[in-house]
Amino acid sequence: MPSRSILERVTAGDILVMDGGTGSELQKRGVDVLKGTSVEHKRMGPEKYEWTTGHGVWSATATFEAPDVVRQIHEDYLRAGADIIISNNFYTCRAMLKMIGEEDRWEEYTRHAAELALQARDSVNPEAYVAAGFAPPYSGDLKREFGGMARVLAECGVDFLLPEYMGGSTVCESPIADCVTAVEVCAATGLPVFLGVCCVTDKGTMYHGESFRELAEALAGCDLAGILLMCSYPDEISVCLPELRKVFSGPIGAYGHVGYDENEKFGSSPDEPYFSIDIGEYTPERYAEFASDWKKMGAQIIGGCCATTPEHIAALPAAVGR
Ligand SMILES: [Zn+2]
Repeated sequence: MPSRSILERVTAGDILVMDGGTGSELQKRGVDVLKGTSVEHKRMGPEKYEWTTGHGVWSATATFEAPDVVRQIHEDYLRAGADIIISNNFYTCRAMLKMIGEEDRWEEYTRHAAELALQARDSVNPEAYVAAGFAPPYSGDLKREFGGMARVLAECGVDFLLPEYMGGSTVCESPIADCVTAVEVCAATGLPVFLGVCCVTDKGTMYHGESFRELAEALAGCDLAGILLMCSYPDEISVCLPELRKVFSGPIGAYGHVGYDENEKFGSSPDEPYFSIDIGEYTPERYAEFASDWKKMGAQIIGGCCATTPEHIAALPAAVGR
């Protein structure tokens, strides 16, 4: 367990490096991330899986099918210099696991994913932080889903909660109202809460055009440790971070994606994967240049999202002067 809390570190003005992609890294290492997707639905037949959506439960099943690989990925990011790793809890809530008929095991999935991250931290760098990162379900009762996740994850002993991939869709009320709900139910555990806002735009707004001022005003009464922009291209984050800085005085940060999506060419040949990984221009060196810019914009927590690798993260400490 770290000797200083994450809140002490960010309040002191420290710069912290976070880890990179987990689901994309699992795929690269040969782990199945297709359960609950439409391709899996076709393969197993509708009687096996009741309903599906594009990303299915994605990395969730790896927690039990490939725990050693999950732990190894956490360890690789810690060895690359990450001060923070995000547990593989992205889609371990009840509503998402329902897609593969495993909804009654959501606590087990949630707990085990957190434990894998905690074990990696304890063995490689006890001063590193474990963020429990979890995304909203496509539909359902957000308060119930996140309230349950937050309670179990707090019991596991994670260092802070990171409701992430928020702002891109509406689960209950609106993207911003759902952000407020997420922060409120997570803060009720007493753990620090950072909010991960996804899919920000090159126009300097949230995904559906809301301004960061609207977001900051809605969150004003919440017990919120910081806001991180995530799962957006580096260029989009560079446009949006200054907008966020103008209207939100708390700690900010960013972890961008660099090319991971459903593959339009899927099915055209046996070699085409369902999710394509193509980092294009965003090499570790180029990504580190963006990270350096983000630090100048005020970012204190900087990592990577989909398709970033341990090599991307290894390039960050020097670039952000940690
Ligand atoms: Zn992502």
